Amino acid sequence: SVGADWAEAWIRRSAADIALNRAALNTLDRDIGDGDHGENMDRGFQAALPKLDELSDTATPADVFKVVATTLISTVGGAAGPLYGTAFLKAALSVVGQVELDGNGLATFLTAARDGIVLRGKAESGDKTMVDSWTPAVDAATAANAAGASTAEILRQAADAALAGAVATEPWVARKGRASYLGERAIGHRDPGAESTALLLRAAAEAAG
Ligand code: ADP
Ligand code: MG
Ligand code: MG
Repeated sequence: SVGADWAEAWIRRSAADIALNRAALNTLDRDIGDGDHGENMDRGFQAALPKLDELSDTATPADVFKVVATTLISTVGGAAGPLYGTAFLKAALSVVGQVELDGNGLATFLTAARDGIVLRGKAESGDKTMVDSWTPAVDAATAANAAGASTAEILRQAADAALAGAVATEPWVARKGRASYLGERAIGHRDPGAESTALLLRAAAEAAG
């Protein structure tokens, strides 16, 4: 199982990976949006770091997710801020009080995160958004958990599925977000939010070892 140390390590690793990929995420967003997705995400995750330092020794994974949620909502701006903010908020609420997350806990919080994004943004699978990375990740985590995989393996499966989901958005027309205004011109470009989701879930797996 994984606890608050993992949750905190996940967010710190995410912040570092997003900083490294800031320009690449901006470039993806320049192709089919307004070019700010990398800087939006970088601003939010950098702002979360000092908040993590303030958490007490008795913090739970839910406490970590809640701090991330409020920071992302107040600092990221753009479409992605409220979407990721809601994801982390719903994730926190789904595992409140749990000191350690086992496979069921992981499947539960990933599902809650995805459902939060769908509730907020109303995107369906195939609309070429971050949902197209989250939903395969949720499905893979649920299947791996049902098969009795370890928490580290569940997170690896989720991360692999998230990346495959992001890659799969490339040939699609977008039906939500700024890219939806481009019609066929969005074809051939990967959705930036799906890419950042893949990056975050890879960091979650790496933080679990
Ligand atoms: P903005 O488009 O406001 O500049 P960002 O560039 O930070 O915001 O984020 C863009 C990403 O947000 C898109 O690549 C897409 O994955 C995601 N997105 C936009 N609208 C929605 C929606 N309704 N549901 C889910 N994800 C969405
Ligand atoms: Mg943008
Ligand atoms: Mg913008």
